[in-house]
Amino acid sequence: MVLASTHIPRPQILSRKNKDSNNDDYFNNHGRILLYPNQCTDMSELKKIHAHTIRTTFPDDPDALFVYSKILRFSSFADLDYSYRVFNQIENPNSFMWNTLIRACARGVNRKEQAIALYQRMLELGSVLPDKHTFPFVLKACAYLFALFEGKQLHCQIFKHGFDLDAYVNNSLIHFYASCGCLESAEKVFVNMPERSLVSWNVMIDGHVQFGQFDSALKLIREMQESFEPDGYTMQSIITACAGLGALSLGMWAHAYLLKKNDIDVAMDVLIKNSLLDMYCKCGSLEMAKQVFDDMHTRDVTSWNSMILGSAMHGRAEEALEYFSCMINTESFEPNSITFVGVLSACNHRGLVSEGRKYFDMMVKAYKVKPVVEHYGCIVDLLARAGFIDEALDLVSSMEMRPDAVIWRSLLDACSKKNASIELSEEMARQILETEKGICSGVYVLLSRVYASASRWNDVGLIRKLMTDKGIAKEPGCSSIEIDGVAHEFFAGDTSHPLTKEIYGMLNVIDERLLLVGYLPDYSQAPMVDELHEGKQQSLRLHSERLAIALGLLNMKPGVPIRILKNLRVCNDCHQVTKLISRIFNVEIIVRDRARFHHFKNGSCSCMDYW
Ligand code: ZN
Ligand code: ZN
Repeated sequence: MVLASTHIPRPQILSRKNKDSNNDDYFNNHGRILLYPNQCTDMSELKKIHAHTIRTTFPDDPDALFVYSKILRFSSFADLDYSYRVFNQIENPNSFMWNTLIRACARGVNRKEQAIALYQRMLELGSVLPDKHTFPFVLKACAYLFALFEGKQLHCQIFKHGFDLDAYVNNSLIHFYASCGCLESAEKVFVNMPERSLVSWNVMIDGHVQFGQFDSALKLIREMQESFEPDGYTMQSIITACAGLGALSLGMWAHAYLLKKNDIDVAMDVLIKNSLLDMYCKCGSLEMAKQVFDDMHTRDVTSWNSMILGSAMHGRAEEALEYFSCMINTESFEPNSITFVGVLSACNHRGLVSEGRKYFDMMVKAYKVKPVVEHYGCIVDLLARAGFIDEALDLVSSMEMRPDAVIWRSLLDACSKKNASIELSEEMARQILETEKGICSGVYVLLSRVYASASRWNDVGLIRKLMTDKGIAKEPGCSSIEIDGVAHEFFAGDTSHPLTKEIYGMLNVIDERLLLVGYLPDYSQAPMVDELHEGKQQSLRLHSERLAIALGLLNMKPGVPIRILKNLRVCNDCHQVTKLISRIFNVEIIVRDRARFHHFKNGSCSCMDYW
């Protein structure tokens, strides 16, 4: 390897033109380099220059060091291993060289550990001190690796070396802490910064969005606007926050703001449009999503995926499948794993069993997409709900990975509805409890439903006792509704809202109107013992979405749908009642529950009662 010879001093030929005619282009009559390595087009050119530099210069010649820096920089992008070898041959690399290699590793795939190791070596050798460019790169690697311990040490060294007031370094610290989930530490750095840039705000806001703290993200954006105009990155964070919160009116404000500003560059444009698509789909306005999609000049796979997933979530399976066919046939895009999650969930939300089987097959055989747990989740749920429990079980046993609790839950859910054997249901429940501890409460509720449907009340009681003994509580249902840009949140039986009196009055009005149309409550999904006797109707009518709908009816505006966001699945009874309300009060109600959207209008729901 030619690189090994760099340490052997060679005669310097700086005063004569090099005899090697191939190198004529790179050197002038005095042997000085004309074409620097950063002007190379590829590695073979760079290697020629490198070889010539070795032959004609002493390693510690300032000119040679300059060329080596350039060689390092070029190769750090084109061939990182080569870069590493060059670096190892340099006796006293300067801070630029260290930073070049650390940055390349921090950016590289599977190289992040090397960035941290290089930094450690730099400290150990002690010949150069880290500077303000070093820390951001190492912090970036730490952020990626969730290396909280190492990152905290870096924070100390930033103080030690006197870079604690540097905006660039502090922005990296905020990003590092936010990526590791330490929002409080990120906030401390942010608050103590002598001067915050737009980047500081964006990093802080994005940190909150990434961790689902949408409310505080939006609060930060309002504060930021006192000193900075939001840019493309800020807008993307706002839109993502709106999607998470289901805050449609704020999302629409962001959209209008973008249209007015109209100065987002093209690369950012696709990203932002994609987040707009996602936001509109998640906030229940598929029509607006379609408009954005139709107006897009450039679309990528993510754009198509958003429309497929969005249509699926809204129960419009045919449209989802049309988007899919257009994407692969007309536009010749290669569908990816997420595309098929959309396609399969479209089939699932509509109970399209044979299509589901067909697309699952197509995914594996024609597109060689390896099915992941989400794909299995859709197809198993689809088969199980349609009553093909054995086929679903066969599929589960063919899975390469361990089925997750969601899959077992689908099966148990199907068993409870299709009156499958109690033994099979119990086996499912056992599997869920073994797989995941987190969603236990759902399992107990489902199992108690199985026992209730078989009138095994003793077992229902046993399950209830088990839940109490183990301190397992049902995940509380929570619904929110946005009125004039403000989100109002309700738990079941909530009496904390300032308009509680009016809301409960409205519930009474609803009850009276429901009685008139001959409504009978459906208790099938409330089989817990205490709910089965007195108070069960009371508990159903106080489900969180009912309170939110009542508030929506109190604030109803003609032609504006009531939009509700719910954390759990809608229960049978609430579904039936919401359908009736949409007819009685002549209002469109859009509910986003844990799994999908329901559009209630004129007494029916877009899910066609299949959810
Ligand atoms: Zn309910
Ligand atoms: Zn529905």
